Amino acid sequence: MPPFAKRSLGQNFLVDPNIIRKIASAINAQPDEKILEIGPGHGALTALLLQSGARLSAIELDSILAAKLKAQYARNQNFFLYEGDALKSSWQPFLPLSQIVGNLPYNIASQLILKFFQNSQMIHRAVFMVQKDFADRLFSEAGSKVYGIVSVYFQLYAKGKILLKIPPSVFRPRPKVDSALIELRPNKELPLPNGDLLLFHSLVRLAFNQRRKTLRNSLKRYYNAELADSFPWEKRPESLALEDFLKLFSLLKESIISDCELKPGELPPNLIF
Ligand code: SAM
Repeated sequence: MPPFAKRSLGQNFLVDPNIIRKIASAINAQPDEKILEIGPGHGALTALLLQSGARLSAIELDSILAAKLKAQYARNQNFFLYEGDALKSSWQPFLPLSQIVGNLPYNIASQLILKFFQNSQMIHRAVFMVQKDFADRLFSEAGSKVYGIVSVYFQLYAKGKILLKIPPSVFRPRPKVDSALIELRPNKELPLPNGDLLLFHSLVRLAFNQRRKTLRNSLKRYYNAELADSFPWEKRPESLALEDFLKLFSLLKESIISDCELKPGELPPNLIF
């Protein structure tokens, strides 16, 4: 059993062999398949993934755990451990990937999934453990109470589902919330060119910043009377499906660009992925 866990690193280690086997079988790693594991920790999943003969890389931020895994698998030619921050470091050296997997540190799970979306054209599939509430938000549809920014981004980038619901009892220390194993499969083609993606994100964020307000209010900076008949401006963001956001974007794109003093294709500042 792990001696201690660092809360700041979201360390809730899997200790139930049954669940670990179920997760590994959902990942279904194949010999020579290229997989990246985020946050291998004490290596609960890592061990089973390596048994499959997959070519596994892993990124671990905790230097003690990273050193332990490096030593444990020093002779395994199929394993590469990178000690670093999976959020701050580029995934480019690991791409293309057949799968990216991990029991994600819950405090940064949403940012890691956004980063997965950003790299999704080079990754075939993701299998992640996240908080159950977060999974519900990710997969919710327009009109639902929990529909929000991540739900819209998700529809833009991927299809997915909950594979397993997982109780706190299989972790040490036990988290306070239920968890879910989710699968994400990137859309082959995105409905927007790459250069427009971050601009689209900023529009979605702006619309949801004031969730209770109508779009005419929350986007008043870009709204003008000429646009009145081209969109149902009295709606609230939580009732807009992806297609509605895309239409809104096509109407407002030029004014957002000129507002930020951006040239077409340039990215708005301060947008962190
Ligand atoms: N995979 C292990 C398991 O299932 O037992 C550990 C999962 S634990 C929820 C999350 C792991 O991610 C920890 O090992 C933690 O140290 C690591 N971690 C936290 N933040 C990280 C980051 N920014 N980059 C890489 N690893 C991180």
